[in-house]
Amino acid sequence: MCGIVGFTGNRQAAPILLDGLSKLEYRGYDSAGLAVRDGDALAQVVKAKGRLSNLVEKTDNGNALKGTCGIGHTRWATHGVPNEINSHPHNSQNGKISVVHNGIIENYLELKNMLIEKGYTFKSETDTEVVAQLFEDLYDGDMVSTTRKLLEKIRGAYALGIMCTDHPDTLVAVRKDCPLLIGLGKGENYIASDIPALLEYTREYYLLETNEIAVLKNDGVKLYDID
Ligand code: GLU
Repeated sequence: MCGIVGFTGNRQAAPILLDGLSKLEYRGYDSAGLAVRDGDALAQVVKAKGRLSNLVEKTDNGNALKGTCGIGHTRWATHGVPNEINSHPHNSQNGKISVVHNGIIENYLELKNMLIEKGYTFKSETDTEVVAQLFEDLYDGDMVSTTRKLLEKIRGAYALGIMCTDHPDTLVAVRKDCPLLIGLGKGENYIASDIPALLEYTREYYLLETNEIAVLKNDGVKLYDID
């Protein structure tokens, strides 16, 4: 099982993401990574194989990554060896979409081949990178309708945290057969695979329903159903 955390608010995201990931270490993992965004700049992604402490060191406790919106991940490899390239977050080809994923995309090969035919090139061996590239391919400017189109195409088990640079300070979360919680703070909101990652920040949380789409901003969370 992997761990997912996400944050959007007015504070620096990276130290909060690293702290949340440390509370999910009990779930087991082989590598870890962060993607953090400052306004509408492309996400900065840092990954490290092995212990979370390697990522903590590499990012100077998160201080090397500036920005108030981000996603973090501890990976338990299912598709592709545990290495830095296969670690999450994964970006789409144009760099605008960043994705963390827990679970398995069963039809990833079929989708990957379709995307390769369209000219997409892949860096990793993971099923997750397909989600990032597919989101870019389906992207229509709207996070909710693009996520709906994505859910029509992917099969399997997933908890996903998705960011797009066109939508500063916005996170999208969706799940099926993998846990994902929304943490509700004051002027800040969170996603997490499990409660311990949230406890220091809020006691108010919401368990996402299957294929319910959550759009988080610092001032609120909106929920959409698949339709
Ligand atoms: N299937 C994905 C991978 O191998 C996610 C694994 C996980 O849940 O950590 O990268």
